[in-house]
Parts: sequence; structure tokens; C-alpha cells
Amino acid sequence: MPHDHAHDDHAHSLLPSDPALRVKALETILVSKGLVDPAAMEVILDTYERKVGPHLGAALVARAWADPAFAAALSDNANAAMQALGISGRQGEHVVAVENTPATHNMVVCTLCSCYPWPLLGIPPGWYKSDAYRARAVREPRKVLAEFGVTLPAGQSVRVWDSTAEVRYLVIPMRPEGTEGWDQTRLAALVTRDSMIGTGLPHPADAP
Ligand code: FE
Repeated sequence: MPHDHAHDDHAHSLLPSDPALRVKALETILVSKGLVDPAAMEVILDTYERKVGPHLGAALVARAWADPAFAAALSDNANAAMQALGISGRQGEHVVAVENTPATHNMVVCTLCSCYPWPLLGIPPGWYKSDAYRARAVREPRKVLAEFGVTLPAGQSVRVWDSTAEVRYLVIPMRPEGTEGWDQTRLAALVTRDSMIGTGLPHPADAP
């Protein structure tokens, strides 16, 4: 029989439905075939679970808010500015920082897959990889933003940046009002992951 449906369904049902189980099964096979080294994998997992995450991007943004010369250097060459903070790594080889202004709000997507500046933001959230976000971010950005709870002033245009395997974008959100004189640690606490993707805004200064 060329295509036996009952048989196919049976084969599919043998796959664990839980993604965690599927990952575990894949991992077991790759390790048993000697294709991956469990120790090397541990190091990578530990890196992205504990060390690399949006707090790194937030530190960069806070410094740009506090230091105009650094902000200019970041716009000019984001990778050099990242190096100054000791930030580098895979998927962050060519980063472009795009700064929000009262006239323009920037938003980042990868319409093709899920390209994302890992060294600055960690592993991308599930929605960033979804078909819906990838298609709709370019087609109806304001509607997508509204679903994220972001309503922009009518006079502020939205610019959507499509990431590629070569170029990753980091949004530099606008510094919240009422933060004059704040140090970088305090400023960094206002910078959310989504505000650096452009689907969110930083916390306001008076947030609890
Ligand atoms: Fe991609």
C-alpha cells in the first residue's frame, strides 16, 4: 500500500507530544551517536540560562541613555560599543542599533525565521518565532503593537526592520521622563526585553 493513513497516524502517536520529551529523545540519540558532547551542551545551556539575557541589552541601553557620547558610538558602530561592555557572541556578529524618537518607533522582526541578537537579549521568545508575528509585524505593525498593549501617538511613524542572518537589530527605546540624574543600574531596571524588540515600551519612572 503506497500510503497507509492508519499506519502513519500510529507512527505519529509514538512521538512524545510534549516538546521537552521530544528534545530529550533527540538529545539521547545525538549523544549516543557521538554527534554532540554532553559537557559542551551543558556549557551552552548554562550560558543562555544564566549569563546571557535581556539584562545585557538593558545595560547597553541604560549606558546610552546616561552617556550621549556612548549613544553616538552605539549608533555609529553597535559592535564596537558592545565590545566596550564585554558583550559579544554568536548571532550578534553584526548588530545595528535603531533609536526610537518622538517621530519614529522602531520594531524588529525576522520575516524569514527568527534571527535575533542573542548576546544582547538571550533566546528569542516563542511569539517572535511564530508565523503570525513574522507575517503581521510587517503588514499591520500598529495592530500588532496594540495587541502588545502599545498605542503610539498618531504622529509617530512605525519603522519595521527585517533581521537577516547577517544583521540583527536592537531597538534603543526613548528614555522615560522623570529619570533625570538616575544612575545606569536604576535606568537599566526600566528597560524591558520587548522594549528592545520594539513590541513594548520601557517601564515608566514611577512604576512600582
Ligand atoms: Fe531569522
